[in-house]
Amino acid sequence: MNKKLLCVVKPRKDENIFSYINRLSIENMYETNTWILNDSDFNHYIGPRNLLPWKFDFSSLMNLTGLSLNELLITTFYNEFDYEKGKFKHFNFTLYQDSLMNAHAKVCPRCLETVGIHHKLWDIRIFLVCPIHNCFLVSSCSSCGKPIKQYRKKFYYCKCNKDLRTLKVKNADESNSFVSRIIYYKFNSDTRNFKESNLNLLTKLDLKYILLIYHFFIRLYYRDKSRVGSISIESIKYFV
Ligand SMILES: [Zn+2]
Ligand SMILES: [Zn+2]
Repeated sequence: MNKKLLCVVKPRKDENIFSYINRLSIENMYETNTWILNDSDFNHYIGPRNLLPWKFDFSSLMNLTGLSLNELLITTFYNEFDYEKGKFKHFNFTLYQDSLMNAHAKVCPRCLETVGIHHKLWDIRIFLVCPIHNCFLVSSCSSCGKPIKQYRKKFYYCKCNKDLRTLKVKNADESNSFVSRIIYYKFNSDTRNFKESNLNLLTKLDLKYILLIYHFFIRLYYRDKSRVGSISIESIKYFV
């Protein structure tokens, strides 16, 4: 017999799937997220860039929640990247494999504290600053020094038990936050308050093309020697 969750909340467009599973766990009064993560076939290696309908089988989570694939896919970049399977293979690769985080996460401790969700945009590698709090996202735990994982037993805690909402943040200035702000306003389809909007052609492009352009130039810069790391703040500086 198929297991079904008693309480099902609707996924939000601005949260990632691990954040959604956390809300489901809270709603169903599970002590940790492990039950739903495991029952939905998530393992420690799954990250946002693996979450394509032809790479990851969503059927267990669909059964658990009774939701359709399309309803669940709003917690991934499937709609924003908008392409069909098999087309533009090189672009697909860049958008998913190069642009998105793997099993590691970066978080804004202040958003975790105030909003309680993992914003989907944090999973974009070049998104390094929280535009709401103007601080750099944090990618490792200050207590144990290890990278923050997407797969966490307790959503708000590192494996070492450090509360991620209490991690110290470093303030960013306007030039550090340019890329993140452009992505944030594009995602929310609202560039009215983006004061550079008339000056920068990037604001006229869809989110996926902004990412492709950045990755094209980053690759040129590195001459394809290495992939862009999630925490290479130094390297991003050259492109803003
Ligand atoms: Zn924030
Ligand atoms: Zn830790």
